[in-house]
Amino acid sequence: MSDTRTLEGVHPVDLGDGVHAFFTSGAGGVSPSPWSTSDGGGLNLGLNVSDDAARVAANRSRVAARLGAPVAFATQVHGDVVLALGAAEREQWAAPVPPSTAGEGDALVTAEPGLGLGVLVADCVPVLLADPEARVVGVAHAGRQGVLAGVVHRALDALVARGADPARVRAAVGPAVCGRCYEVPEAMRDEVAAAVPATFATTSAGTPGLDLPAGVVAQLAARGVVATQVPRCTLEDQALFSHRRASATATTTGRQAGIIALI
Ligand SMILES: [Zn+2]
Repeated sequence: MSDTRTLEGVHPVDLGDGVHAFFTSGAGGVSPSPWSTSDGGGLNLGLNVSDDAARVAANRSRVAARLGAPVAFATQVHGDVVLALGAAEREQWAAPVPPSTAGEGDALVTAEPGLGLGVLVADCVPVLLADPEARVVGVAHAGRQGVLAGVVHRALDALVARGADPARVRAAVGPAVCGRCYEVPEAMRDEVAAAVPATFATTSAGTPGLDLPAGVVAQLAARGVVATQVPRCTLEDQALFSHRRASATATTTGRQAGIIALI
């Protein structure tokens, strides 16, 4: 593990005493274009986006160095499965050659100090959750399907099952594609907005859209959890990876992450 605690482009968030949380950007790593948003090397943290696995491992170790703890990532499948990690996983992920995945799931929770949790995104909504008093943290990956499936609810349920009180839980909703940019067919907007009304949006072009970050904030608010929303749009902000922006030019891109740990 590198001795550096600095990492370019990191966006820290305050989720309480004893909790370390931040969002990464597309810069500060070793990956070349198109897995970089800067000339200095990209911090692509996602496997399965055609980047070299050794570069992804190097990028992930930079994030672990910044956090001061190993970071576990799941294989995200747009579902609502929550994986609970503990001391055994902390040991696995702290090994010289950590695992590539904690398993299939779209949320992670832990009460284990010194084990980071990561959620990978490039337009979907990264959510960080912490109850600093109960000493339990979690992450969730909420895209359109995850918002419909209620993955944020399942993650919050998992925190509550480990002693968290929603009134005490602090949440951060990280950079994602915004409602002005996320154009969808009208039928799709209607379907998602029928389930989560706060997602209803109109794009800057006047077409049907979805505001997934607003939907996640509303889902959390319905449970009594106040969320801090990072007001950055992945599609508009060139410092961040955006699947939609890349797809528009028929290329691939990297994945940034939301990271949290009990310290
Ligand atoms: Zn936008």
